[in-house]
Amino acid sequence: MKKYENFSKWFDDLLLNAEIMDNRYPIKGFAVYKEWGAKIARKIIEMLEKKLEETGHVPMFFPVAISEETFKKEAEHIKGFTSEVFWITHAGDRKLKKRMLLRPTSETAMYPMFSQWIRSHADLPLKIFQSVFVYRYETKATRPLLRMREFLWNEAHTAHRSWEEAEEQVKEAIGIYDEVFKNLGLSYYILRRPDFDKFAGADYSIAFDAWNPDGRVNQIGTVHNLGENFSRAFNITYEDIGGMQRYVVQTCYGFGISRVIAAIIAQHGDDHGLVLPPEIAPVQVVVIPIPYKNLEDEIEKYSRRVYEKIVSAGFRTRIDETDRTPGEKYYYWEMFGVPIRVEVGPRDLKENQVTICERVNLERRTVPLEEAPRAIMEEFRKIEKKLRERSISTLKEMTINARDIEALKEAIKSKKIARVCWCGKIECAERIREESGGEIRGYRVDIEENPEYTCIICGKKAEKVVYVAKAY
Ligand SMILES: [Zn+2]
Repeated sequence: MKKYENFSKWFDDLLLNAEIMDNRYPIKGFAVYKEWGAKIARKIIEMLEKKLEETGHVPMFFPVAISEETFKKEAEHIKGFTSEVFWITHAGDRKLKKRMLLRPTSETAMYPMFSQWIRSHADLPLKIFQSVFVYRYETKATRPLLRMREFLWNEAHTAHRSWEEAEEQVKEAIGIYDEVFKNLGLSYYILRRPDFDKFAGADYSIAFDAWNPDGRVNQIGTVHNLGENFSRAFNITYEDIGGMQRYVVQTCYGFGISRVIAAIIAQHGDDHGLVLPPEIAPVQVVVIPIPYKNLEDEIEKYSRRVYEKIVSAGFRTRIDETDRTPGEKYYYWEMFGVPIRVEVGPRDLKENQVTICERVNLERRTVPLEEAPRAIMEEFRKIEKKLRERSISTLKEMTINARDIEALKEAIKSKKIARVCWCGKIECAERIREESGGEIRGYRVDIEENPEYTCIICGKKAEKVVYVAKAY
């Protein structure tokens, strides 16, 4: 399997072989999370929800069904989503008097309730989240994990007393996502989307675009300041300290769990298979006995001791005592991305040591058995660092400065992300898309970048440095 020769096939094969997702479910755009995929998803959710709870967000679960009436309350929102909603129209053979829809996102499920719950300034801020499936009838070609009609995400929704507080919340949300993504070793651009590409109903949107080996960026998270757009539509008001009725200011943000898994596979995986950050690996350490003539029993016993030692140190550990050859076992667990393999052979037995092999560069070293847990922990930190550094340097290599349209076309054609100067006009944005096939993803918010040149299309003064790429 060659990741950089045929990414699409490499990715699809790996999803099946490493038991992440089975895309053969008989409804297009719907797929099964198999054991490995489901376990990874749960670990990611755990990491994210911990951070959300630490920052005062509380979990809730809202219904999957939304009434047509509430869905239609915010004009921009409905325009943005109406063509991709799944309608619920019948109960048995009877046509429903009022049709409902499956949530494509939960603003219109939650905000009618917000207007019931919020009365005074003391009820604010309200910060809630849920990790659920949402439903969108994607018309573009569906791809497992990357573009599904049912996909797993975490969405958070907040309400505040003022624009300033909502702005602070946007920053907090970006910080939370940034920390979780960084802990997973991912790299990406944090971009403010151009106005024509913001979330339907938002004042503005900020998105995390992760790189992908095929040059198409993968939006793994978004953060929106909704202003008063929804609070006016849903009449969510509070009484301020002076007794005045005011509209709340809202934010919402979405963390694409399935897309984050896709990014982890795509950025860290290699021609041997998955490479998983230790924190989310369903199995962190696999012990592999290497039988040797006349020492079979001793090695088996010693391997068990090694296994016990590592398990009792708290690592998620397996011992592979199947009939496969050691080589086959290596190959198998490498494909599943297990971060550390512990090999136990005759020499290890004799010296009371183990041989540790890490998954990123498949480098080996030996350590005394007593020190194995500490050495494994050390290797975990090194793996995280290696993954992060490798991913960052790939993103740098993938990003090309394009001064003119020819350079831009070439960049997109060769699967790169182009950094270009843009005047801000929509006509120039459209030309960029038509000429290059890539789209303006936005400008960076983590650093300030001043345009070095004029607009790549019209040659007039550039407003922003923007990033152009194809996208999932
Ligand atoms: Zn222009």
